[in-house]
Amino acid sequence: MDVPAPKSYEIRTYGCQMNVHDSERLAGLLEEAGYVRAPEDADGDADVVVFNTCAVRENADNRLYGNLGRLAPRKASRPGMQIAVGGCLAQKDRDTIVRKAPWVDVVFGTHNIGKLPVLLERARVQEEAQVEIAESLEAFPSTLPTRRESAYAAWVSISVGCNNTCTFCIVPALRGKEKDRRPGDILAEVEALVAEGVSEITLLGQNVNAYGSDIGDREAFSKLLRACGNIEGLERVRFTSPHPRDFTDDVIAAMAETPNVMPQLHMPLQSGSDTVLKAMRRSYRQERYLGIIEKVRAAIPHAAITTDIIVGFPGETEADFEETLHAVREARFAQAFTFQYSIRPGTPAATMENQIPKEVVQARYERLVALQEEISWEENKKQVGRTLELMVAEGEGRKDGATHRLSGRAPDNRLVHFTKPEQEVRPGDVVTVEVTYAAPHHLLAEGQVLAVRRTRAGDAWEKRTSEAAAKPTGVMLGLPQIGAPAPLPAATSGCGCD
Ligand code: SF4
Repeated sequence: MDVPAPKSYEIRTYGCQMNVHDSERLAGLLEEAGYVRAPEDADGDADVVVFNTCAVRENADNRLYGNLGRLAPRKASRPGMQIAVGGCLAQKDRDTIVRKAPWVDVVFGTHNIGKLPVLLERARVQEEAQVEIAESLEAFPSTLPTRRESAYAAWVSISVGCNNTCTFCIVPALRGKEKDRRPGDILAEVEALVAEGVSEITLLGQNVNAYGSDIGDREAFSKLLRACGNIEGLERVRFTSPHPRDFTDDVIAAMAETPNVMPQLHMPLQSGSDTVLKAMRRSYRQERYLGIIEKVRAAIPHAAITTDIIVGFPGETEADFEETLHAVREARFAQAFTFQYSIRPGTPAATMENQIPKEVVQARYERLVALQEEISWEENKKQVGRTLELMVAEGEGRKDGATHRLSGRAPDNRLVHFTKPEQEVRPGDVVTVEVTYAAPHHLLAEGQVLAVRRTRAGDAWEKRTSEAAAKPTGVMLGLPQIGAPAPLPAATSGCGCD
């Protein structure tokens, strides 16, 4: 009797790290239900295509319906093919999606991603679209099966949702109030990952340093960082994204005193103007923000600090914008992810007066980018001559092949391209190099590698790669780089949604 071939799946992910991590859970759920990843170049040819959507980007919905429209003829010609839509736009638009695209089989939200396999089955059996949106979290995503993209670096979610009410942001409406995981669960997951060979983790939360507000312990986040310091084999700990309001001295001390917590901080500023910060409801002002930067630099002199800035928020005057430029000059960020404000339906800012004309926003945006580009380059030039330990990265050097180089991440998350050594090195291994050149967004180590340390993470990568070569092929999840972003792609910084 012929055993039917397992159904294949493809996941297309949009938006922030939370969505990237949720997509790893969706892949884990589907594989547990017997699906296999479709080939890299499936591009809609899979038996099941899942869209994990973002509701933040301007015209995010146009892009979704455009993609769904392109899949309609493909689905019409392939009986049994299914399309599912999840993520923030599904949580927001709900059954509007099946009204606008009746060939969609399943719509699920941000609080019930665990339901996907059941809903696909129900839609197949009942030959009817299934729309199921939960108003609050059904299960912590970390309790669901997962299929991680990287063998050596992993996301670990410590909280979901957000208690803040920034006027430009739709996250609280779509991901709900903050819910914290129990510290024991988080540490157990980290230890299990390290046992699998992972040597770098990124603690993930919409507002990662507010961790503890839901479990009544204001110092829970710094305690968690210190506890990660005691985990044997865990080489690197990162976290994203903190909010300046909750960035307290105990967190800075924990960062400085815990050796495996990396000297890197991504902290959204959004605006340098106190007037605009008030209108954004960001509950800190320029002085406090720069004060935190100063304290971090005093405790961790080599820390690389990056940020997010929104230009053209309603009511922003030229004087307000000058305040942003002033803050950028003072803060000397290694990188800044800059966004032109765009109206987000459903947010308070969308109906504010004094929306700024596009051409004014564009002009300010270009001035800010030019200033930051200069600063990024100057800060990178200070790295020349330094000897750095790099974790070898997978797929972060577009020109590596042509330049006979490899790429890796420094402890401060800077991207370094280095000369390929004679000795074989694998993603996850660690090499020591001397920086010889600085570009605005990366560094070069053109001399010989000074040392190579083969690691358990490198072994894990090698094992996974050889197993994958022996198994039926998978799907590109449409994901940006996993592990430390390179350089942090704009779409995925800030509180994940900017
Ligand atoms: S911008 Fe960040 S802190 Fe503000 S509401 Fe959105 S997720 Fe929360």
